[in-house]
Amino acid sequence: VFISFEGGDGAGKSTQMSMLRDHLIHDRMVDEDLVLTTREPGGTPLGAQIRELVLHGDDVDPRAEALLYAADRAHHIASRVRPHLARGGLVLGDRYLDSSVAYQGAGRELEAREIAALSLWAVDGLLPHRTILLDLPPAALAERRAPGEMDRLERAGLEFHEAVREQFLQLAADDPDRFAVIDAALPKEEVHAQVLEKVSGVLQL
Ligand code: C5P
Repeated sequence: VFISFEGGDGAGKSTQMSMLRDHLIHDRMVDEDLVLTTREPGGTPLGAQIRELVLHGDDVDPRAEALLYAADRAHHIASRVRPHLARGGLVLGDRYLDSSVAYQGAGRELEAREIAALSLWAVDGLLPHRTILLDLPPAALAERRAPGEMDRLERAGLEFHEAVREQFLQLAADDPDRFAVIDAALPKEEVHAQVLEKVSGVLQL
């Protein structure tokens, strides 16, 4: 089973992923080896180099950037995620193709549906069984982060992040069977309880 977590930076994706992982391993007795927690960009050594290039390199042309994310994802899915799924494992992904549609599509320089098609091609059609969207207004996201932590993309400004959020919400509205939207402004224990509820069906909890 493949579950992805999406949302802006600071929405609590990694916190919620580790809370879910701990719950599964300690309260549900799921074998630790069966739970793969991974991230994009940068879930493999090659991906870490790509992540370095896109996040800290010179200004990258939007199409080149989209292709770099797609290359990272293609390698990550083929070398780590698919083999783990084939063993009957559970994959918890910190970002997946919806992030590309939201971030690379939201600048409006590239069409969201082109990014979606490119991303799907890169992963040979693999979609998550469930996608948890941790939704929070960008102004609230900005407050959660120290200015020094911001990378090139995050400095892009509030307007860009508003567009990213709208794109995520649109993707969720278009595919309600896959997506579950959770209000990330709630206390983390409350968000965790909602995450458990939203994954219980696909995990047969
Ligand atoms: O979530 P994480 O900190 O790994 O994301 C790093 C940055 O990469 C984020 O600021 C996000 O804006 C950007 N990103 C992107 N397109 C993706 C994935 C991440 O622009 N497909």
